[in-house]
Amino acid sequence: MQFRYYCALWSAKLIGWGMRLLHRSASYLPGRVALRICPDLMRRVQKAPLVVAVSGTDGKTTTSNLTADMMQLCGFAPVGGNRYGSNTEGGVATALVNSVNWLGRCRVRTVVLEVDEHYTPIILPQVRADYLLVTGLFRDSLQRNAHPEYVFGKMDRVDCPDMKLILNADELRSSGLLKNNPRLYFGAGPLPGDTDRPENLIDDMPYCPRCGKRLGYDYVHYAHVGRAHCPSCGFTSPAPDFCVTAIDTAANTLRLAHGGGETVYPLVNEALYNIYNEAAVIALFTDLGVAEDTIRAGLAQIKPPESRFSAWTAGGVQVVKVLAKSNNSLPVSLLFDHVRKSPGRKAVILAVDDLQEAHSSERIAWIYDADYEFLVRDDIVQIMVVGARRYDHVVRLLLAGCPEEKIVYGEDELATLDELAVEGVDSIFLLQDNTSYDLGTQAEKKIRQLLEARKS
Ligand SMILES: [Zn+2]
Repeated sequence: MQFRYYCALWSAKLIGWGMRLLHRSASYLPGRVALRICPDLMRRVQKAPLVVAVSGTDGKTTTSNLTADMMQLCGFAPVGGNRYGSNTEGGVATALVNSVNWLGRCRVRTVVLEVDEHYTPIILPQVRADYLLVTGLFRDSLQRNAHPEYVFGKMDRVDCPDMKLILNADELRSSGLLKNNPRLYFGAGPLPGDTDRPENLIDDMPYCPRCGKRLGYDYVHYAHVGRAHCPSCGFTSPAPDFCVTAIDTAANTLRLAHGGGETVYPLVNEALYNIYNEAAVIALFTDLGVAEDTIRAGLAQIKPPESRFSAWTAGGVQVVKVLAKSNNSLPVSLLFDHVRKSPGRKAVILAVDDLQEAHSSERIAWIYDADYEFLVRDDIVQIMVVGARRYDHVVRLLLAGCPEEKIVYGEDELATLDELAVEGVDSIFLLQDNTSYDLGTQAEKKIRQLLEARKS
């Protein structure tokens, strides 16, 4: 079997070398081929002294990249991992092949792996992860993920008794993962803008995991993320070991309580879900024994994750372009929530057309899970709908109670923009999908022309 392992290792290295020579991305295929030759390759690769895995519905890539950058800065280099690769078996196997030399000797100090939730029971025992950091489990694309409870069931089968978990205390489903493993919790205390219950149409965690009665909340930050309690049996969310207690966006800092004291850290990004990701990273490095000053210096140097937001102003109107991942109700609902909480009078352009799915008939279910109701407000003066799915969005908006006269839609996306309400609005939100990216760029150009024409 050792012979088979070396055949696989060398094949993967040769393929990777050849692909890089041809300027192809060598982040999946070498590992895929190696696994064909030696199915237990991941188990046979010499383990790095430290292996950290990152999983969860949203924020995997951001958090694993932050972790890898911090490893580099905090004395854990050289760092390997699947930063540019896939988070399933092929990508992880490629990362492991790259972490050893041609003789099979480990040549990195640390491996940071982003792992797809569904693959955690297969991958984690083989790579012998020392840590698993889970951002949270939420409703995701229906056809791939069914329900978060189903994904939880898969992750809860991971057989790594010594692996330490770093879990989100405020996300009640993932916080209950792998009850027998050692664990640390991160979370956030009450913050301005909290509500006292989940406000979305979809609440994926309505019932007490202990007695099955309806849960109450001390506070909710977004979706079902917050501090829950059960009025019937006294169950509460786990107490966070690392708790964000204040966020100062002006000073770009966050305050974090841990072990009886409070520490101020630089804020890597001000979006709340990224603050959770940062708290998770601080928890990991503190547990690794890294000094506070070193963590602080590291966080000050790492770049904020590439923003999904971009904003500019023309003729006194702010235009905000946001990437909205379609087929996935919660991220879209969070964007609708952001729009409704933004001040002033607003126009919204929905260019969420999941065009790659247009030939399938049943993939609009997510539209009925998303909170279009958040958009039915007096200060949202117009909702323009463009793209292949426009009729579906219009029906959904009407069902949400949006007055028909506020909805504009049309066959030709760019021509429809002529009807954009540019008078009397303070901001325009362009919510666009990956697949409508080119359209979004053209639309931005046209919106700028409209606003500048209005100014003169
Ligand atoms: Zn209960």
